[in-house]
Amino acid sequence: METKLYKPNYGEYNLVMAYPAIESFALASLGYLWLYKLADTTDGINAIRISTDNINLPVKKIHSLAFSMSFDFDFLGVFEILEKLKIPFYAKDRDESNPLIFAGGPVVTTNPMPYAAFFDFVILGDGEDSFKQVLEILQRKEDRQRTLKRLSNIEGIYVPNKPVKKATAELKDVIYTPILSDKSYFKDTFIIEVARGCMNRCAFCTASYINLPFRHYEYTKIIEAIELGLKYTNKIALLGAQISAHPQFNTIMDYLYNKMKNGTNIELGISSLRTDAVTPQIVQTLVLGGQKHSTIAIEAASEKLRKFINKNLKESQIIDAIKISKDNGLKGLKIYSMIGIPDETEEDIQEFIRLARHIKNEIPQFNIEFSFSSFVPKPQTPLQWSKREESKSLEKKQKYLEKELAKIGYNTKFSSIKWDYWQTVLSRGGIELAPFLIKVYQNGGKIGAYKSALKELNLDITNLIDGFDITAPLPWDVIENHPKQILINEYNRLLKRI
Ligand code: SF4
Repeated sequence: METKLYKPNYGEYNLVMAYPAIESFALASLGYLWLYKLADTTDGINAIRISTDNINLPVKKIHSLAFSMSFDFDFLGVFEILEKLKIPFYAKDRDESNPLIFAGGPVVTTNPMPYAAFFDFVILGDGEDSFKQVLEILQRKEDRQRTLKRLSNIEGIYVPNKPVKKATAELKDVIYTPILSDKSYFKDTFIIEVARGCMNRCAFCTASYINLPFRHYEYTKIIEAIELGLKYTNKIALLGAQISAHPQFNTIMDYLYNKMKNGTNIELGISSLRTDAVTPQIVQTLVLGGQKHSTIAIEAASEKLRKFINKNLKESQIIDAIKISKDNGLKGLKIYSMIGIPDETEEDIQEFIRLARHIKNEIPQFNIEFSFSSFVPKPQTPLQWSKREESKSLEKKQKYLEKELAKIGYNTKFSSIKWDYWQTVLSRGGIELAPFLIKVYQNGGKIGAYKSALKELNLDITNLIDGFDITAPLPWDVIENHPKQILINEYNRLLKRI
């Protein structure tokens, strides 16, 4: 069952909003649902939701088709939907008989270039303000050229080949799940955005860098949103790259704690917690809200590397966070870290093993799992130029950690080195990747499809793995407010810490 928490408007402009994955993920995507609500409440717009497993169109004519891209591999879903709708992939092959096709979301905001050949325009940065202006222009139903010319004047709208500034919205009205559904991946959960971005600026983190400056909603508005959500469901989730950075985070948690203590049934979920922000009160609130396990991200193998990536986390803070988690009722903890951060040495890996032993000695009877991914250099961060470590060497590190941590008595989980490798290619690619992406899709989209597409097209991607010279032009330089000089300064500053 689905409940819309707003009154839709109707209209004759058919805007199809496509999520390039299955519907349960679409219904869990706050950004996608919020912009859908914006369209659905706009006079004159008939907003229609589709996803890869649900392409039932109640209309014959699509005026425009929008995609939300949250993950690097979402391009496969974009092609799947375009193919099912019989729409040519390349923008250059489409004419007035086709809808305008556009995209938004973190993937294209980070680097729109690998996808620029497929979209007529792209929404970069925060969409809530620019999308309203887009809807106004689209409804004029002018020809493509005139429409694109108008759109290119809006801040945050990238019409391929024209430099653009990504948009930064002022956070006023709190964004929350506008459609509750039992089909959502987060079933019937009312998600509330508490803050956007993160002040910490870890050197690899796009969630922080593409959302600069860090912004948060007013405390009273968050409380109002919580109360609104509780009218419909008992499942409340607080979202943000780093919600504990909200200046009144502890007060928000106190509010929820007192509410639950006074008998309100709340199932509480929070997206992430900084290790050094774990307090007894926060853990008790999570436990009271039904949470049994939580995650802390330590990001790097050693204190030296954590300093280098600007994650200034001391071993004593990690130990404290685990103790607090255990002592205040959590059943277990996942500790997340990366391998392959630039300049990681054998000693750093040994440091990790030593830390794991230290944790075992200090907190022996607690269910801890270590989870690792391999470092993927991302655009618009200080590590955007870095080389990605060779897969063989990363696989060796994985095996070693798995074996040594098992000896201490820990379970481990690892992301796929192969997928992380292709994520690096997609993240840092340029327009030259367009035929490659189509080939990958045509070859089935599995891991083997990437290798075979590369071979078939004889494409050289060495520089996307080996990294860029600091003086070289970057594909995403098209984003004028990509703060390159700030990133160079930050990179040099961090290098001095090693
Ligand atoms: S603390 Fe987390 S969200 Fe913030 S910059 Fe670091 S990795 Fe990103």
